[in-house]
Amino acid sequence: MTNAFSTIWRCGVVVMASALWVSGTLATDERAIQFPDVPGFHTVAVDLHTHSVFSDGLVWPDIRVEEARRDGLDLIAITEHLEYQPHADDIPHPDRNRSFELATEYVDQQQLDLLVVNGAEITRDIPPGHVNAVFLADANPLRTNMVMDAFLAADRQEAFVFWNHPAYLDHFPDGVAQLTDMHRELIQRRLLHGIEVANAGSYSAEALQIALDHNLTILGVSDIHGFIDWDYDIHDGGHRTVTLVLARERTAEAVREALLARRTIAWFNNLLIGREDVLMPLLETAITVSDAVVRSQSEVVDVTLSNSSDASVDLRNTNSYRFAEHSAVVRVPAHGQVTLGVTGEPQSAFDLEFEVLTALVAPETHPTLRLHVEVEGR
Ligand SMILES: [Zn+2]
Ligand SMILES: [Zn+2]
Repeated sequence: MTNAFSTIWRCGVVVMASALWVSGTLATDERAIQFPDVPGFHTVAVDLHTHSVFSDGLVWPDIRVEEARRDGLDLIAITEHLEYQPHADDIPHPDRNRSFELATEYVDQQQLDLLVVNGAEITRDIPPGHVNAVFLADANPLRTNMVMDAFLAADRQEAFVFWNHPAYLDHFPDGVAQLTDMHRELIQRRLLHGIEVANAGSYSAEALQIALDHNLTILGVSDIHGFIDWDYDIHDGGHRTVTLVLARERTAEAVREALLARRTIAWFNNLLIGREDVLMPLLETAITVSDAVVRSQSEVVDVTLSNSSDASVDLRNTNSYRFAEHSAVVRVPAHGQVTLGVTGEPQSAFDLEFEVLTALVAPETHPTLRLHVEVEGR
C-alpha cells in the first residue's frame, strides 16, 4: 500500500534514524524470528515486500537491511513501486535497481548473513492492482506502457510474481479480494505465482481461498514503509508479518524453488497460515511431548508439551481426556512449556488430539495435531 503519512512523518524519521545509530549495538536475539527446521528442509524467514526512499518508503535501504538483521530474517526483497515515485525530485534514480544495489553493498560492507534479492512493485489500477516481481536481474525492463508487457519482462527473467494486498480497499472498497479475468489469464499463463494472504496488519480469508483454489503460493509480508518498530509491538512479543519458507538450502535459489513449489507458511499476528501438508510438519516439529509421568499418589499423568518455535500455540482438546488444571483450551507459549494433568486413568500409551486454534489451513479451518504419549515407567 502506498503510505499516506510520508509527509507528516518525514521530520521524525531523521531523528529516529540518528538515534538508532548512536545507540550502538541493540539486542538482536530477543526479537529474532526463530522456527525449527523440519525433516528435509530449512525453515527460512523471508519478507518479500519492503520499501525505501527510492519509492514511497521513509528510510534509506541500509535501514531495511539492519531491521531484517535484527528480526533474524534469512532473506528480504527490496520492492520499490515502479510507477509511484513521490521522492523522485529529491532522489532521482533512472536506474530502478539502485536501492537493491545499495542494500547489497551494505550487506557486503557489514559482512551480514542476510540474503537480499532484487524486486519491483508493478503499481497499477485494478486489474491487476499491485503486483511484486522478485528475484529480478534488472527491474528496468518492467517499466512498460502495457501492463502485460511488464509480466512478460518478469517472466523472461524467471521472476517469482505475486499479487499484493488483494483486498486493498482502494481497489475493493468492501474489503473482499476478487479475481478478475486478467488475474485468471495471468494464472493460466503461469505469469502469476503467489498471493499475499497477509499484508502488514491485514489478513484476507478470500485471498487464502483464492490461493487454495488456483494453486498459488501463500504469502505474508510486511510491506514496510516506515519502521518495523512503529508498526508492530516488537518488544512486547509482537513480530513483523513474514513468510516461512521450507527450503532445501539456505540460498536465494533454493528459496525461489521452494516458493514456486508452494512450500510456504504465512506468519501473521501469531497466526500460522499454510497448506496442511506444509504446515503440519512444522507444527509437529515445534510442539512435542517432552515428558509424561504419573503424578505421585494418583493416577493422573502429567504430560509436558514443549514449543521450540516463536509462535505461541493455542490448542483445543478434541478427545475425551480431561485435564486437572486446564479447560479444553491450553496455550503452549513460544519457546515454553505447559504441563497437562491428564485425568481418567489413561493407558501406558495414548494419543492426545487438539485443534490448533492459532493455525489455519483454509478459511475458518484449523488443523488437527495428534501427539502420541508414552508414560514413563507404566
Ligand atoms: Zn508495497
Ligand atoms: Zn502496494
